[in-house]
Amino acid sequence: MKINIWWIRRDLRLQDNPALHAAIEGADAIIPLFVLDPFFETSNHVGEKRRAFLYANLGMLNQALQQRGGGLIVRRGHPLQVLKALVSETQASGIFAQEDVSPYANARDHMLADKLPLRLTGGLTVHPPAAVRKPDGSAYTVFTPYSKAWKRLSTPTAQDVLPAPEKIILPDGIESDPIPTNPSQPDHIPFPPGEQEAQNRLSAFADEKAAPIFKYSELRNRMDVEGTSALSPYLRFGLLSPRQAIVAALEAQGRSESEPERSSAQTWLNELIWREFFISILANFPQVRQASFREDLRAIAWQNDREEFEAWTQGKTGYPVVDAAMRQLLNIGWMHNRARMIVASFLVKDLLIDWRWGEQWFMQHLLDGDPAANNGGWQWSAGTGTDAAPYFRIFNPILQSKKFDPEGKYIRRWIPELAQIPTKYIHTPWEMSPAQQGEFGVQIGQTYPGPVIDHAFARQRTLDAFKRAKSD
Ligand code: FAD
Repeated sequence: MKINIWWIRRDLRLQDNPALHAAIEGADAIIPLFVLDPFFETSNHVGEKRRAFLYANLGMLNQALQQRGGGLIVRRGHPLQVLKALVSETQASGIFAQEDVSPYANARDHMLADKLPLRLTGGLTVHPPAAVRKPDGSAYTVFTPYSKAWKRLSTPTAQDVLPAPEKIILPDGIESDPIPTNPSQPDHIPFPPGEQEAQNRLSAFADEKAAPIFKYSELRNRMDVEGTSALSPYLRFGLLSPRQAIVAALEAQGRSESEPERSSAQTWLNELIWREFFISILANFPQVRQASFREDLRAIAWQNDREEFEAWTQGKTGYPVVDAAMRQLLNIGWMHNRARMIVASFLVKDLLIDWRWGEQWFMQHLLDGDPAANNGGWQWSAGTGTDAAPYFRIFNPILQSKKFDPEGKYIRRWIPELAQIPTKYIHTPWEMSPAQQGEFGVQIGQTYPGPVIDHAFARQRTLDAFKRAKSD
């Protein structure tokens, strides 16, 4: 009997799964295996919310496998030891897994491939980092030429999407550790687990005639409306393949009935290409996890004030838009993209705190926390990354708030103590007189903080610090 192991890492799906497909081909039975690696169970880059989302999804995957006659095998331990033991226990001939690019995954897979019959497949991206190259073979570091080269490669169609296997044959007698349920996902987290949920969301976002994808360009920056797909936690864990998302974007583009609709679908496609761009950056320049991509900006004299960092993490900076966003993150493990840009700019350029502190906080709290996209987003916001916002572009949190949450709905939703404030003051509550504060049920400095820093002062301080770093 020929047995293969399907080693599941961040591809928790049955549809369009090249690793699963390769494992099944030519085998009589497969072992769908998830290894509970102590590195991730204890890492300070993985917080409770993402772990709970993962565990809930392992449960759903187990159900889906059982419905096809199989089941999920979970084993706790270092992947090398677990896989060695399972290969010798079952005489499995191959281990199939989707390639990953983080430095940890890379080192682990290289070490393992020396000792075990590990075969890596694609699936993390539509075009792997090695396929999108400059004519001289080097890696792109600027998004626009990268995306042009990406688009010149063959685009996938619905025919390329691999169907879910109808049957999974699991060899008899393979024992599994229990699927962990602690931490469990609280009910208020608006990201229910499961591959089906991911499919439903994609189809609600992109399949219908008047689907949100056709208004994406117009609404994607508004924090007070649900104008984006909210698919990131699902893409992060591979509950949906990037190919399925990209096919949906291309098909929507084909169905569009006006130029704004076509360009809106195109804008969403570009975001999916940004995802692949940052994966390519991490694969080609793994040092970005430790230091700024730009060498001339590695010596910034950060303030790194712990109390101000704490105020930022807890949503208590006194800038309502920043605080609303940080409380959204603490509460549901997700944050709107515009809000991510605002809070990242605020941490780095108003508080002059090292972007790596923010990167780590995000990794601990985001359901979609992903080493490539998160590092890319932070270095972009800090102005230290590839193709980043220039360092002298400093978001004004008040103007951003007025523009992208004009009536303050987002602020009121996440900061109940400001809920009664009239729109005129919602972005700058400290401008209210004490009598007005009394009238609208808030006391600045008591029930809601005053601004932790003056933006104009902070802006100049940052410009000076970045200039000094560049001239050193
Ligand atoms: P949509 O707007 O619907 O986009 C569709 C998909 O495209 C997303 O689900 C995501 O997979 C991808 N995508 C969109 N924008 C980006 C982008 N700028 N970079 C890379 N991929 C993108 N995204 C993560 O998935 N994980 C992270 O850890 C992460 N950290 C970020 C940190 C900062 C400081 C910033 C500025 C951005 C970060 N992003 C991250 C990118 C982006 O904010 C989220 O992908 C997006 O908000 C997810 O919402 P959505 O699914 O509704 O996205």
